[in-house]
Amino acid sequence: MLELTKLSKTYDDHRAVTDVSLRIDPGEFVTILGPSGCGKTTVLRMLAGLVQPSSGRIVLDGRDITMLPPYKRDLNMVFQQYALFPHMTVEDNILFGLRMKKVAAEEQRKRLAQVVELTRLTGLERRKPQQLSGGQQQRVAVARAIVNRPKVLLLDEPLAALDLQLRKSLQHELKQLQKRLGITFIYVTHDQEEAMTLSDRIVVMNGGVCEQIGVPREVYASPASVFVASFIGENNTLQEQGRTYAIRPDKVKLVALRDKLPEGNRTGMIEDMADTGSLLKLYVRPDGGGPSLLVYKYGDEAQGWRTGQKVAYGWASRDEVVLVR
Ligand code: ATP
Repeated sequence: MLELTKLSKTYDDHRAVTDVSLRIDPGEFVTILGPSGCGKTTVLRMLAGLVQPSSGRIVLDGRDITMLPPYKRDLNMVFQQYALFPHMTVEDNILFGLRMKKVAAEEQRKRLAQVVELTRLTGLERRKPQQLSGGQQQRVAVARAIVNRPKVLLLDEPLAALDLQLRKSLQHELKQLQKRLGITFIYVTHDQEEAMTLSDRIVVMNGGVCEQIGVPREVYASPASVFVASFIGENNTLQEQGRTYAIRPDKVKLVALRDKLPEGNRTGMIEDMADTGSLLKLYVRPDGGGPSLLVYKYGDEAQGWRTGQKVAYGWASRDEVVLVR
């Protein structure tokens, strides 16, 4: 339905995005995930028509929209700063786009009633943005975008300004809303947990390139690269005898070291611990040198460890995740 082919953007002499290719199905919730500066927003802005690609193509429903101005695309964008009109009421903010397009008054009323209900803004229609909470303002921004019934909604870190609790509940709301409307969502975030929670598929970006595209479980369980392995969930990446692989902290077996073990066993010392309540995180410094290993222990297994303790550790080879890059 939406197809990006080798999309690239160079600002002056800086390559912000290199050869991003992606096919998105109708009604899909796709998240572009990556650290600050990796090019996520630039991809979204190229889709919206706010930034002109240096090369590559964007096709929406069989039509090449690469060079179309924003208002001629069947896409709407929701920004991190909600960008509501401060002097207008909630209702006027929502209806702004439909009035510009001279949609019939009756149709406007119908659509307003529908989106106000969907975004749970009933009773707040006559308020001005400064009389709303952050979460309510965010809902108005979403209502204003979906009232136009775009085929695709582009969302650039729409929840980043909200506190954790509100963010979690709005994540849930957004996902429900998206499923009910059947609109394709393309969502940008640097928060891997948010991406895992919301998405049908995740596009992991780093340094302007797409490192992996997959369903959340896939990018978590089978990361393609060292970067993805360390960015999605916590992970130990190891390089031994010329090969690179990753091992999840909950796959590491750990025993207290009382007697000397035969040569060849992995041994080390617990150099630090963090008790998060639901799990104990242990940092083990290998005797043979190299980076510390992160280990998770839950429940009864989280009991009895102490900093400075000597340990032996290991894992099953089937739990090693081979990294391509
Ligand atoms: P963040 O999460 O911090 O918003 P991002 O992944 O969205 O980051 P982009 O905003 O797409 O990253 O920026 C990608 C790169 O392009 C960055 O190195 C940025 O400095 C650069 N960049 C973005 N916009 C411009 C511009 N108008 N002119 C020059 N360089 C730019």
